[in-house]
Amino acid sequence: MFANPNPNMANGLEYIPVPFFTDNYAWVITDGSYAVVVDPGHAEPVISYCHSRKLIVTAVLLTHHHADHVGGVEDLLRFCGRKGASVFGPALERIGTVTCRAGEGFEVRLNEPKFVAHVIATPGHTAGHISYYQLPEQGCPGHLFPGDTLFASGCGRLLEGTAEEMLESLDTLAELPPSTLVFPAHEYTLSNLEFAKVCEPSNLQVRSWYDSAGALREAGKPTLPTTIGHERNVNPFLRVQEAEVRDVLVERFGVPVPHRLAAFILLRAWKDLFQGEFRELAEKWAPGFLN
Ligand SMILES: [Zn+2]
Repeated sequence: MFANPNPNMANGLEYIPVPFFTDNYAWVITDGSYAVVVDPGHAEPVISYCHSRKLIVTAVLLTHHHADHVGGVEDLLRFCGRKGASVFGPALERIGTVTCRAGEGFEVRLNEPKFVAHVIATPGHTAGHISYYQLPEQGCPGHLFPGDTLFASGCGRLLEGTAEEMLESLDTLAELPPSTLVFPAHEYTLSNLEFAKVCEPSNLQVRSWYDSAGALREAGKPTLPTTIGHERNVNPFLRVQEAEVRDVLVERFGVPVPHRLAAFILLRAWKDLFQGEFRELAEKWAPGFLN
């Protein structure tokens, strides 16, 4: 069962979220004949989708080395058959299936489908994490695939990089044009917004987005893509300069928050605990419910 075909079409390309595991998306970018797949952590649903539309996969784009992003590549390559597919991945990470190692400034250029993306180094979640950015052209907005760096109303955990690196990565992405469509690798929007509501209680856009995102999920639809402009208004990790965010942090933790980095560190640490507390409580009330 796939999510509804994504209505976003630009320059003759469709951007389709293929869900797998609990909350992952592989993004299939296709002109109707050829396809590029971003972060296929699990092959079967991607193969099944491409097979149903008779799509020929010519390239795979990987943002970082985690298994839920790269785990399906080998099986997907087998599906590609003799002609195979190019596999682009971060230059600073070791991923066995990668054939083109891409770092900051690298350009992915394909003819089938016609597709060009610039690589932006976005360390923080992992040390070598990269994002792929299709520039805007002829009235069509840019398209960003930030993997586990930027989520709708959230950001990735700091598993390998430093808080400084992650904040810089997020700042870089936040500077892209506001109309840029953002295609993260996870459907975390609602749980991120639960947290955003606590960080910035008077942000009305967060509240109304929570309601509309909830309605989308209830209808079985993805909440993605989001846009950079929207994230700048509702994502607490892109709003560490806001007085209310800092006031909430000062009140909650009783420590001074002298600069953006301090706010970001507290916010990221709090978010990790926030999720932990929720899981703990849910598990207490209904053992095994979350497994
Ligand atoms: Zn990850």
